[in-house]
Amino acid sequence: MNIALIAHDAKKELMVQFCIAYCGVLSRHNIFATGTTGKLVAEATGLEITRFLSGPQGGDQQIISRIQCNEVDLLLLFRDPLTAKPHEPNEATLLRLCDVHNIPVATNIATAEAIIHSLERGDLDWRDIVNPKSPKEG
Ligand code: PGA
Repeated sequence: MNIALIAHDAKKELMVQFCIAYCGVLSRHNIFATGTTGKLVAEATGLEITRFLSGPQGGDQQIISRIQCNEVDLLLLFRDPLTAKPHEPNEATLLRLCDVHNIPVATNIATAEAIIHSLERGDLDWRDIVNPKSPKEG
């Protein structure tokens, strides 16, 4: 499955810790991320990550394009609800498109934990049926 990661600055450390904890699961999937999030997670975990531009510089838009084409099977968007960001409209678009394509999305670590366990159990395998183009492993 194709998993996209985005973490706002205040949540980057949390994203890194999450990815360290679930490195084993994540390593069986294709991971995409906005620039800085991807760099930090790759350095901390050694995971192979396809990195886009930094979020505010267009990385969010690049992930939006993948979602528009239904090429993302799971979005983990750890957002900081306390700080306004100039690229906030992208966030609304990301969430709307996830609803358009029925893409599971977590905006906080509590939901992400639940989803990652679902992923491990195979509860999200239906994504491979509705989205057979998606490159995947086991
Ligand atoms: P970044 O982007 O990973 O490049 O910092 C995240 C964001 O959109 O805030």
